[in-house]
Amino acid sequence: MKVAFFSAKPYEKSFFEDANRSRHYSLNYLDIPLNVHTANLAKGADVVCIFVNDKADAKVIKVLGQNGIRLIALRCAGYNNVDLSACREEGIQVVRVPAYSPYSVAEHTVALILTLNRKTHRAYNRVKEGNFSLDGLMGFDLHGKTVGMIGLGKIGLITAKILKGFGCRVLGYDIAEDKEAKQIGVEYVSLQELLHTSDIISLHCPLTPQTHHIINKETISQMKKGVMIINTGRGALIDAKAAIRGLKNEHIGYMGLDVYEEEADLFFEDLSEKVIKDDVFMRLLTFPNVLITGHQAFFTQNAMHNIAETTLQSIHEYEQKLPLTNQVKV
Ligand code: NAD
Repeated sequence: MKVAFFSAKPYEKSFFEDANRSRHYSLNYLDIPLNVHTANLAKGADVVCIFVNDKADAKVIKVLGQNGIRLIALRCAGYNNVDLSACREEGIQVVRVPAYSPYSVAEHTVALILTLNRKTHRAYNRVKEGNFSLDGLMGFDLHGKTVGMIGLGKIGLITAKILKGFGCRVLGYDIAEDKEAKQIGVEYVSLQELLHTSDIISLHCPLTPQTHHIINKETISQMKKGVMIINTGRGALIDAKAAIRGLKNEHIGYMGLDVYEEEADLFFEDLSEKVIKDDVFMRLLTFPNVLITGHQAFFTQNAMHNIAETTLQSIHEYEQKLPLTNQVKV
């Protein structure tokens, strides 16, 4: 099997090389993203392996189809960047890694909550400069606070368990109720009630037409004043311009983002010497109560190991014409 591996990063290679030791696939690491300009680089490969910000839209899928690609292996859980109906037309199957480590994302979610609340990032810099003043560093007890989770799947459930450990009340809004979530004391409520009641709102649903901009001007206005919003799901769950308005009028008290709607032009690259032209993103960075990480919630050794193993196992199943365990229905 020849695999065109788009958006390859040095830190991924060692995990994929380890997983490939017994399989001997030909992995062609390309350090550029998949898009309409690069899709022809897949020529000669059997499989295209992509990540969250590779763009597999209808035009790209057509080029991949013309080049004989019959499998797209996403080395991530979300598949909102793949045009599934175009895949169906081209006869391309799609696999993903549905659960590589829900702990990685859940724990990062809690890291964002704790950092925003207790301001450890600011304290770190202050103390380094010999400034031991506590002004501006006051937080609140998480114990007794109400956290609203939008989406209680694998990641949402683990996040809820951790927050229960802190003594939080956890509310859940989901299109399907989960038995285990109920057992640990998650209270399912309507979206409206969740928005009205929560001190912290955390997003763990997939990006779909129904959840696109689920956090918008209208839903923000229904939240408690001073609410903390955390997004480790997908950027477009939040209308960033509406969030900026909410931050400016101080309705939103804190915001922690690991994802951003236009992140494809920014994240995973070192742009420290470049001029960033995204004014919305730059405005978000100016708020002292906004904390942004560059889509790193998944990024643990355990997750990387599982991503590599599951992806190559899917390619093995495809090669052997076995049922594809992690197939995305196209
Ligand atoms: P999952 O499929 O196990 O859970 C998603 C949950 O969202 C399900 O319970 C589902 O019923 C619910 N849901 C679907 N549509 C909804 C709607 N309209 N309203 C409310 N709830 C809805 O997925 P997961 O593994 O828990 O991952 C959740 C999301 O996290 C992924 O879709 C992905 O976008 C994101 N993610 C981010 C990172 C990161 O590094 N930041 C890593 C992995 C996943």
